[in-house]
Amino acid sequence: MNKKQKKTLYRIVGTGIIAAILMALKLEDPLNFILMMVPYLLIGYDIIIKASKGIKNLQPFDENFLMTVATLGAMILGEHIEGVAVMFFYQIGELFQSYAVGKSRRNISELMDIRPDYANVEVLNDEGVPTGELERVDPYDVEIGRVIVVKAGEKIPIDGIVIEGNSTLNTAALTGESLPRDVFSGYEVISGSVNINGLLKIRTTKEFGDSTASKILDMVENAGNKKSKSEKFISKFAKIYTPIVCILALLLAIAPPLFNLISQNPPLWGQWIYRALTFLVISCPCALVVSVPLGFFAGIGGASKAGVLVKGANYLETLSKVKTVVFDKTGTLTQGVFDVAGIHHGVLDTETLLEYTALVESYSNHPIAVSIAKAYHETSGKALDKTKLIDIKEVSGQGVIGKIKDESGILDFAAGNEKLMEALGIENVIHCRSVGTLVHLAINGEYGGHILISDMEKPESKDTIKLLKKIGIKDTIMLTGDIKAVGEKVGKDLGLDKVFSQLLPQDKVAKVEELLGAKKGNDAIAFVGDGINDAPVLTRADVGIAMGALGSDAAIEAADIVLMDDNPMNIVKAIKIANKAMRIIYENIYFAIGIKLLCLVLGAVGIANMWFAIFADVGVLVLAVLNAIRTLSVRKM
Ligand code: ADP
Ligand code: MG
Repeated sequence: MNKKQKKTLYRIVGTGIIAAILMALKLEDPLNFILMMVPYLLIGYDIIIKASKGIKNLQPFDENFLMTVATLGAMILGEHIEGVAVMFFYQIGELFQSYAVGKSRRNISELMDIRPDYANVEVLNDEGVPTGELERVDPYDVEIGRVIVVKAGEKIPIDGIVIEGNSTLNTAALTGESLPRDVFSGYEVISGSVNINGLLKIRTTKEFGDSTASKILDMVENAGNKKSKSEKFISKFAKIYTPIVCILALLLAIAPPLFNLISQNPPLWGQWIYRALTFLVISCPCALVVSVPLGFFAGIGGASKAGVLVKGANYLETLSKVKTVVFDKTGTLTQGVFDVAGIHHGVLDTETLLEYTALVESYSNHPIAVSIAKAYHETSGKALDKTKLIDIKEVSGQGVIGKIKDESGILDFAAGNEKLMEALGIENVIHCRSVGTLVHLAINGEYGGHILISDMEKPESKDTIKLLKKIGIKDTIMLTGDIKAVGEKVGKDLGLDKVFSQLLPQDKVAKVEELLGAKKGNDAIAFVGDGINDAPVLTRADVGIAMGALGSDAAIEAADIVLMDDNPMNIVKAIKIANKAMRIIYENIYFAIGIKLLCLVLGAVGIANMWFAIFADVGVLVLAVLNAIRTLSVRKM
């Protein structure tokens, strides 16, 4: 509990004691009234001040105004205990709610317990040589390329590469995945993971602000700023609702007594004013105003606990409306780790071809490029001599073009798909009979053979598609830049509804736009990709989901939702979480409005008195808050 909450608690207790004593004394008015004003002001002064500020700013119609008018009215009418009690229970409700919000906020930062507090950097002497000492500094002050030491039990503060030592890392706070990962020299590590056992020396590759942990924290902290449709609806609702209620209350206080006067009956002013005041107390929409944002907040928190980062409340809402999921192939449904299955029709010897291909691919981040580099290392055991590479250009969705210095002079060398060969005007392109991704090669404007590579489907992909169908996704579609044969095969293996192949990055955008144009009503379309050659699509879809945040910056930037690891099953998890959060939020909206309407009617006809109003109000608030907090515990689904 913070200071403010403690103060409220003291006020509540103090008011309770004083009011109880006064009730026991059973004093006569006006002494009783005067003394009762003491607990009344003690418990309600802040609300009265807020209400008068609202009046001064010409925006009087809020819950403070409702409370003040209703309770002051009750005090003057002689219902002192009621007047104090309304404020008393209202404050209890507020305290409860602020405690709950604080707790879920703390929960989120606790479960996002990835904020590093310090870094141990190697101290350098004047010549820039390590002295062997360590200095504990603010991670903000560590430059790129410095060596930091992370001891067992410490968090990795900054992204980097291990240069010495080996250990096991716990990435649970980042991925929701409790399986530890083994790391050793040469391994890329990300900030926010916890070093479990060994001592690691890490050379930083990013500044603290650009490191994974900072990025993720930024994202989670800013998530609350994006208001969802439901939240906007609530604030609009409150703006219209409050004045209407005030006018109705006024009518209730004046019209029936006037009518009685006209029909020459006793006017019963006191009774009708009391009913109007009760009506005002009941009408306070606090449960609604409080529980909806809290519901979203808790939903986002619950999701991040499960390794699903949602960048805003609006995306949680959209995700729950998704009926079509569009996937990228490489790296999303397949592992994006290719094995070289063969080198065919090569015009140079196999090893040289592989070396040159690896050279021109060496600046590409595409999974194909990475895999070819790996294959070269494994077969030759040598490192690439990058000085041989003179010029390099990547054509996204097609391949790479470069110049290589060779004993015989300078070679024009290109590696990529058929589209690239076409673009370069290469004739006699040979197709392969085996199904697999082909990297065609062109040397000095002539066809130079092809490398057949094969990717593997992720083991969870098939079940993911099956489960998506089960939770109500109507259409599953795959877009790929790869050739038709490969696309169709993956589509059939996994049970996808549709496959579109040989698409350039801009074709993927066009396809998604076509789907967006054809969709019905409220349905939404999600696109899932790894951020490589598909960042524009991630932005264009109703919700863009990036897989495996542990690596691709482009994906983190472009996506609305980031899955912390590469498992496609997390898509199912994300949609389930969104569905559950939205269900709870709507439950709260209907419940709060329903009970409110019922109480208002009962209050207007005189069945519900002020006590009933108090309990209805606090009760609904407490239940709505408890219900909202349920979204925090969506972990195992
Ligand atoms: P996907 O839709 O399967 O993720 P991309 O759009 O990333 O595929 O790439 C489409 C195709 O372009 C690949 O299948 C490959 O044939 C070719 N390609 C793209 N980048 C490269 C590269 N760096 N080297 C070779 N081929 C590439
Ligand atoms: Mg891709």
